[in-house]
Amino acid sequence: MDCIFCRIANGEIKGDVVYQDDEVVGFRDLNPQAPHHVLFVPRRHVATVNEFDDADATLIGKLVLAAGKVAADLGVADEGYRLVTNCNGNAGQTVFHVHLHMLAGRVMRWPPG
Ligand code: AMP
Repeated sequence: MDCIFCRIANGEIKGDVVYQDDEVVGFRDLNPQAPHHVLFVPRRHVATVNEFDDADATLIGKLVLAAGKVAADLGVADEGYRLVTNCNGNAGQTVFHVHLHMLAGRVMRWPPG
């Protein structure tokens, strides 16, 4: 299986990594949609949110906690940021390794496009 985010997470391909721990890696998006755009991925390959199960509850929490830590480090926690995960076609998922987008540094609109 050739997964670009697995390869970034295991260091095979160089990413702009801003966070890592035993289970989660955070790296800057190649095509940022905001002044700060960081993707948080589990080190373990999980294709979409649909493949998570109850045993992954802690891992899912760790993705959110990592995003919160990086937002604090970047100084955007108080002004605000958006966390988004796209699942499958209608949501526009293009990379099939689960990732949490953290977008910050500008005002976000709602509803999203
Ligand atoms: P999604 O459309 O939710 O699947 O998001 C995939 C994201 O991955 C997009 O925002 C892309 O810009 C980003 N992306 C794709 N390839 C890379 C890469 N090699 N390094 C960093 N970000 C990437």
